[in-house]
Amino acid sequence: MPPCQYCSVAPDDAWVSTEFVVAVPHPNPIVACHLIVAPRRHVAAFYDLDVQEQRMMWDALAQLSQRITTSIEVEGFYAGFVDAPLGDELDFHTYVHLVPRMPGQKVALLAEGEWVDLGSQP
Ligand SMILES: [Zn+2]
Repeated sequence: MPPCQYCSVAPDDAWVSTEFVVAVPHPNPIVACHLIVAPRRHVAAFYDLDVQEQRMMWDALAQLSQRITTSIEVEGFYAGFVDAPLGDELDFHTYVHLVPRMPGQKVALLAEGEWVDLGSQP
């Protein structure tokens, strides 16, 4: 079995790499600055994380949003929470898409994920 991609992120590739959270650019971004934010702990679903870990994930999303806002013109952000498909819980490492919404640009959000509009940022 290959090592889990989010458990084996190289620190050099990461936008954020902390005790709780790692964030990397999406390999096939749907827009500029499309990021993947994953918890350090290998769990199948966001709600398998404990409260502190969940808070660190939200903190990371907010910090990254702020950082992206300083480099490109952004109207707001979408977050897409991806949990394990049924039957794939062991191998799956939950993660969150962070997708900036740019003025005048329509974004086709991916079918995977539970999407939340983070509103205007920051
Ligand atoms: Zn993992």
